[in-house]
Amino acid sequence: MTTPTLPILDNHMHLNPNGRCIEAAKEFAHAGGTHIVLVSLPPWSLGISINKPDDYRQVFDTVLKVARRVEDEGNVKVFVILGVHPAELTKYYGRLGLDKTIEVMKGGLEIASQYVGKGQAIGLKSGRPHYEVEPKLWEASNDIMQYSFQLAKDANCAVQLHTESATEEGLTEIAGIARTAGLAPEKVIKHFSPPLIKTCEKTGIFPSVLAGEDAIEKALAEGTRFMMETDYIDDLTRPGSVLGPKTVPRRTKQLIPEWGEDVFWKIHKENPEKVYGVEINT
Ligand SMILES: [Zn+2]
Repeated sequence: MTTPTLPILDNHMHLNPNGRCIEAAKEFAHAGGTHIVLVSLPPWSLGISINKPDDYRQVFDTVLKVARRVEDEGNVKVFVILGVHPAELTKYYGRLGLDKTIEVMKGGLEIASQYVGKGQAIGLKSGRPHYEVEPKLWEASNDIMQYSFQLAKDANCAVQLHTESATEEGLTEIAGIARTAGLAPEKVIKHFSPPLIKTCEKTGIFPSVLAGEDAIEKALAEGTRFMMETDYIDDLTRPGSVLGPKTVPRRTKQLIPEWGEDVFWKIHKENPEKVYGVEINT
């Protein structure tokens, strides 16, 4: 009998056809990575201008094309998350007006949920700005985020959130918004999360911990209810500004001697299987 190979999943990565793209995915696989959760880039990163909901199709189709190429050539399994970026609101409302911007972004989320319905994506992406904005923009962001929760409830999928820095108060509020929309907070993933595993567990929100410095050791000291990510942005003009594609597999392997392999079966297989309703096999 052969021992099964540990899956290693990066829960939040971007790949840009104008970036290192396949090469970055190969680097991830070569370091021992097996699964990528590929998150749609903000439209401007792909040079796509958004004026109506349908324009998001171009963004989403580009992400799906990259996902297929990576699976064909990169020797990794790719799951796709599609949606809108909270910064789009501040970026568009001067040009489109606030009401129109909200309508367009909600429309983009509706289209993303159709891709989920067809099995082309496993979840939605939404959130609210990580920087301070005027109250009306904050309100609009919460409105869009709540709508993503409603769509996720109907599509029976998860939502990855880009938000302000995690605090118990903020996470509790977001969990409340999810419940109001009928979505279990366990289906809401805080992307770019600090290692606040217990705080997240208390609120129900599922943390995706950024694998920088000693964050994963700190997370493990609190439990195993989390996933790992790099938020690799694949932007050639900003090299070294984020964690590289090898980080999650490397960190995992570095920590196995001290923490054992079992905790990583939980983190890289059981947790994503439960949150996304997918199967993780190597
Ligand atoms: Zn990201």
